[in-house]
Amino acid sequence: MDKNTEAALSGALRKQKYHLVGSHSAVKRCKWLYESIVNDRPCYKQKFYGIKSHRCIQMSPSLYYCTQQCLFCWRAQSGDLQVKWDEMKIPKIDTPEQIVEGCLKAQERILTGYKGNPKTNWRKYQEALMPKQVAISLTGEPSLYEPLGELIKIFHQKGLTTFLVSNGTLPSKLAKLTTEPTQLYISLCAPNEQTYKKVCRPEFPNAWIKLNETLGLLQSFHCPTALRMTLAKDHNMNNIADYARLVEKANPTYIEAKAYMHIGFSHLRLGFDNMPMHHEVRCFAEALADKTGYKIINEATESRVVLLSRLDRAIQINTD
Ligand code: SF4
Ligand code: SF4
Repeated sequence: MDKNTEAALSGALRKQKYHLVGSHSAVKRCKWLYESIVNDRPCYKQKFYGIKSHRCIQMSPSLYYCTQQCLFCWRAQSGDLQVKWDEMKIPKIDTPEQIVEGCLKAQERILTGYKGNPKTNWRKYQEALMPKQVAISLTGEPSLYEPLGELIKIFHQKGLTTFLVSNGTLPSKLAKLTTEPTQLYISLCAPNEQTYKKVCRPEFPNAWIKLNETLGLLQSFHCPTALRMTLAKDHNMNNIADYARLVEKANPTYIEAKAYMHIGFSHLRLGFDNMPMHHEVRCFAEALADKTGYKIINEATESRVVLLSRLDRAIQINTD
């Protein structure tokens, strides 16, 4: 990536309140961190799994880099800002130690903004200064970062749990992870290859085959696994039977069916009307439950997300 491209991208992301860390990582304040500290409203993952929104760091080690260009993605993709770059390769690799330290400092900077807010819950604020959870999910494909297992290990050594979200196109990288995350998400946003190519727009030819390899590999993980389905109306909410076959192959602990949100750079690719309402997501989830034997075990209307599992209740993490 040349200097002009990097300047254009980093400028645009700073305006969107990204805190850049080193040369390819970032932390961004999640809306729910604010909502939890100021309005006592946690995110749906706290409701589902017990993680604490106010103690969560939302970060990515692969800010500008991904193997897909999903229509519903909020990241800046090559071409969006009249600049182009090779999205498949992180050119300069920062060490996991540098990234972890940089993320912890960035989170501290984010939290200083709460000191002047009279509505801040001080107990939560003090707890937030000692984060317990990292969502490695902000943007980009994290498995492009070669020492990802080491990064996860260092977060764990510092007492944080990790949720890793991958698009599953690099199964060999996931299979070689030296440390598993606390929970592994694989995005499954198309029922078949035809829709996958239209909606997820992979950057290499056999990505669908690779994603299917990852689905086959999912049961070899010891941690809880989740298939994340980001649903956009008129794009990927049909062919439930095909989705069900893929679920059967992966046999995940959970399925999260979630509405596309019209935010970030996704407004360049999709319209407001592509956001399904909660009842439409629920309808999709009910049909999937019917075909797979999974049960709806939780839901969050505001985030338009429905949780399915074979378990009666989700495994709770960070409940203290
Ligand atoms: S788990 Fe996700 S939604 Fe919840 S606070 Fe962390 S980054 Fe935000
Ligand atoms: S896989 Fe994730 S980061 Fe990559 S384009 Fe799709 S939504 Fe964006």
